[in-house]
Amino acid sequence: MYPNTLLHINGQWCAAASGRTLPVVNPANHSQIGTVAFAEKADLDRALEAAEQGFKVWRKVSAFDRCKIMRKAAEIFRERAETVATCMTFEQGKPIGEARLEALAGADIIEWFAEEGRRAYGRVIPARAEGVYQLVVKEPIGPVAAFTPWNFPINQAVRKLSAALATGCSIILKAPEETPASPAELVRAFVDAGIPAGVVNLVYGNPADISSYLIPHPVIRKMSFTGSTAVGKHLAALAGQHMKRATMELGGHAPVIVFDDADVDIAAKTMTFMKYRNAGQVCVSPTRFLVQDKVYKQFVEKFVEGTKAVKVGDGFDPDTRMATLANPRRQSAMIANVEDAKKHGGKLQAGGYPIGEKGNFFEPTVITELSTDAMAMNTEPFGPLAIINPFKTFDDAVTEANRLSYGLAAYAWTRSAKTANAIAAQVETGMMTINHLGFALPEVPFGGVKDSGYGTEGGSEATEPYLVSKFVTQAGL
Ligand code: NAD
Repeated sequence: MYPNTLLHINGQWCAAASGRTLPVVNPANHSQIGTVAFAEKADLDRALEAAEQGFKVWRKVSAFDRCKIMRKAAEIFRERAETVATCMTFEQGKPIGEARLEALAGADIIEWFAEEGRRAYGRVIPARAEGVYQLVVKEPIGPVAAFTPWNFPINQAVRKLSAALATGCSIILKAPEETPASPAELVRAFVDAGIPAGVVNLVYGNPADISSYLIPHPVIRKMSFTGSTAVGKHLAALAGQHMKRATMELGGHAPVIVFDDADVDIAAKTMTFMKYRNAGQVCVSPTRFLVQDKVYKQFVEKFVEGTKAVKVGDGFDPDTRMATLANPRRQSAMIANVEDAKKHGGKLQAGGYPIGEKGNFFEPTVITELSTDAMAMNTEPFGPLAIINPFKTFDDAVTEANRLSYGLAAYAWTRSAKTANAIAAQVETGMMTINHLGFALPEVPFGGVKDSGYGTEGGSEATEPYLVSKFVTQAGL
């Protein structure tokens, strides 16, 4: 049912040169379900050589033909969505319905980037002299090193992979060791669609060893990382030291601002759904709920009611709304956050405890009236925890929303167009969704500001970091 995962280097699926593997564990019951090959320097050297040669081949394939191969990969991947989703639920734990949607959205993302690659236009700048042509030509930057996490094993990988391939770059993907089989299926779709050997390479191993070897390596011209802000800052510094272009999709601590004039029922229902998706292990997960005085009590009641109705269970049970956390680190983090919140005067309104003896299950949890010096009010809980506090004025909400160094996603609810415009303008965030859930479609930007990183992994902006502008000026003889 669940495969052992190999490396993919220079067109071949292979074990690590050392033969070393890591165990893969089902987070719902802690049983070992498979293994993943563990790459070391010899494997990375082969991947680098392959990516260098692959780039020479792929950059010469026309955007039109690259698009055809990518579209075929999307088709294959869509056909295999059920297999991919099954792997994902086994290794990551998330409900099978969410895994299915992630796999299907992955195919959409490949298609969108495939087409976008055909529109990597340069430009012609009017010259000062007759017969002179000033051209800006877009060229692929070169081999890319990409590092992706375990919370969305497909979504985080497919954005980097698709942007690189659409623009003519080759890639070494260091996918997550804890959830390796589903990203391997993603790579398999490209391989089966006919991507030339060396263009896509897949490795797993020790993340710190791999990033510290690949990022400075002269073959690598660009890196992209999704993960925590702490690791992101370290990798961004390394990239800077070696003058490598970097995209950083880091943590968030999203504020949700509910104004007095909001439709409280719809806001509470929608945000309950969003909060417990993937058990809150989502970089854009709503975390700090700021609710205006007049509707505070009503919102808390509705949100707590919705939270208590969330059915927690095995990811393969079709009735499950929220499943296990993906690793024991997240369960420990949730316990620590709740303990700390109690010490800081937070009122536990729902949940607060681990569930059962097996797996990393934790109750959907709501804490109200938590002081801003509590741990959960400052660091990303990355779990099923909602914190709800009241606010009085528009300015109070903006001050609290902008208090943290994070700036990834923000949510707002209001019936006033004036308030909607003002809040969108004043919150320091990479993404803002008002009165609905509108993030993460392939065609819209996805990325943050401040400590949440830089660069975007969606929208037409997402191919730009994989391209360099070459200026060519030419006069007739
Ligand atoms: P972590 O900070 O150790 O790792 C986060 C991710 O970075 C993992 O995928 C890990 O493999 C990778 N990583 C760690 N050190 C690395 C290095 N030196 N080089 C390359 N990759 C490296 O912690 P974790 O326990 O895995 O995750 C916990 C925290 O990470 C969460 O609290 C959350 O803030 C953040 N996170 C964010 C996202 C996101 O989508 N932005 C995804 C996963 C985790």
